[in-house]
Amino acid sequence: MDHIVKIAEHFWMIEENDVRSFLLEGEHRTMLVDTGFGTLRIREMAACLTDLPIFLVNTHTDGDHTGCNREFETVYMHPAEMEHYKNALPEGCSMEAVRPLWEGDTIDLGCWKFEVILTPGHTPGSIMLLEREKRMLISGDTIQDGEIYMFGAGRNMEAFQCSLEKMTGMSDAFDTIWPSHGSYPLAPDIIPGILKGARELMEGKLQEMEPPRPMPCKKYVCDVAAFLYGKDDWRK
Ligand SMILES: [Zn+2]
Repeated sequence: MDHIVKIAEHFWMIEENDVRSFLLEGEHRTMLVDTGFGTLRIREMAACLTDLPIFLVNTHTDGDHTGCNREFETVYMHPAEMEHYKNALPEGCSMEAVRPLWEGDTIDLGCWKFEVILTPGHTPGSIMLLEREKRMLISGDTIQDGEIYMFGAGRNMEAFQCSLEKMTGMSDAFDTIWPSHGSYPLAPDIIPGILKGARELMEGKLQEMEPPRPMPCKKYVCDVAAFLYGKDDWRK
């Protein structure tokens, strides 16, 4: 059970290499947020932690978040994410399993109430989940202090900056941020730092470095995070 970290009552993190998923147990059902790379049998692991039925929500659908989606009959995501999912559909998954989750929807688990916030940029339909009463935010890959992937299909630096502006405006609603990568938990004051970094990247002010692995991008480090960004991006 090395991969499982209990954060609070009814709240766990499932760590897999460099990515994490979250499990929130409600009163009648339990929400799993993302399914990692797929090297773990995440549904089985989650079922060891809760007796309640488990349903799946994807913050977004890059391969490091959908690896065990095949273990679920249905998968919730924002409709703006569906094409991104379809274009690289994980093995054993089908579009028939996909259910929509819209901006402003509330995922009511009884003791947890998560509001869906659309934050495109990293992917077209990336979402965050805000629990206003518990003052916490599950942020996916958009707010984190690791390497933010911003190269390849579906990335959009302009939308990414707009999403960070939106979250800066909402940052008095939460105290802790639970990202999919990097350190945890984060404080809301990281958001303006990532936004500043994204602006500096677009203005050519960040130093270009080689990526950590062979990838069609360069690495750019700002004060609080790093970007893996492809200058050959079709949007440039
Ligand atoms: Zn990721």
